[in-house]
Amino acid sequence: MPDLRDLYQEVVIDHSKRPRNFHKLEGANRTAQGYNPLCGDKVTVYVKFDGNRLQDVSFEGSGCAISTASASIMTETVKGKTAEEAQALFQSFHDLVTTGNAPRRDAPPLGKLEVFSKVSDYPVRVKCATLVWHTLRSALGGGGEGVVSTE
Ligand code: ZN
Repeated sequence: MPDLRDLYQEVVIDHSKRPRNFHKLEGANRTAQGYNPLCGDKVTVYVKFDGNRLQDVSFEGSGCAISTASASIMTETVKGKTAEEAQALFQSFHDLVTTGNAPRRDAPPLGKLEVFSKVSDYPVRVKCATLVWHTLRSALGGGGEGVVSTE
């Protein structure tokens, strides 16, 4: 039996070392900063939002491998989605990293985000994985600058 966890770790390591969409976004009209005091992860999310769809998403920040990889994969996943679709993905992702269970059948497929299912074995890492999602929600909901802290 191949150990799938090795594969998952490869994806996480790849995204933490070479994060995608890791830059300030020119023309972004939504932004928010997040901070996870448990681990020291900091992230800034930039969104070019047309009122319905996330036309472009990027991030900057510093943190552990889990938080960086989560941010990198999140930006890839939500780009082009509507705010509602992004919110539904966050719900499924949150369920995944807190319970380790795959999303319900009626939930949107998580795709690459499923590499974080093992995070549920390490409760202290859950906030690392979800920080960027909370920050994205703050950016979309706040309509301007926002700061989230996932204490
Ligand atoms: Zn962390």
